[in-house]
Amino acid sequence: MTLHADYQTDNIFAKMLRGDVPCVKVFEDDVALAFMDIFPQTEGHTLVIPKGVEARNFLDMPTDKLGAYMERVQKVARAVEKALKPDGLRVIQFNGASAGQTVYHLHFHIMPIREGDSARPHASGAPADMGQLNALADQIAAHL
Ligand code: 5GP
Repeated sequence: MTLHADYQTDNIFAKMLRGDVPCVKVFEDDVALAFMDIFPQTEGHTLVIPKGVEARNFLDMPTDKLGAYMERVQKVARAVEKALKPDGLRVIQFNGASAGQTVYHLHFHIMPIREGDSARPHASGAPADMGQLNALADQIAAHL
């Protein structure tokens, strides 16, 4: 998928927004949805996606909607930090397949990092245990 292409409404995150596919929800309002990454690179890996827009990536995001969305990204990042108390936090976003993007609905990754731990490979491996993801989502949501 190139950096510039039409938005595809059958991407997995669009399906989550429509309620067609389940997700382990952390936060939702009229601007954004946050949920646990099913292939977490670190414990607590959370994704935040904008609602009500057809933006494949950061470049596509309508500028007038960016501020409100980024406020939610920061809100969730702060809750992840409070809940899990990592040593560091990566807030990452990929644009285009060449940059590592695999799902074409804008999202920011929030990835807690613990000293000495290394992040697992991106978007691969076995899906996480649902019980663990639900417990992490509850912990994070408690700080929202
Ligand atoms: P990207 O590669 O586009 O930056 O990130 C997409 C992310 O979505 C990856 O971290 C991947 O693990 C995650 N992901 C892919 N499919 C699903 C899914 O069905 N459910 C959830 N919760 N995450 C997914």
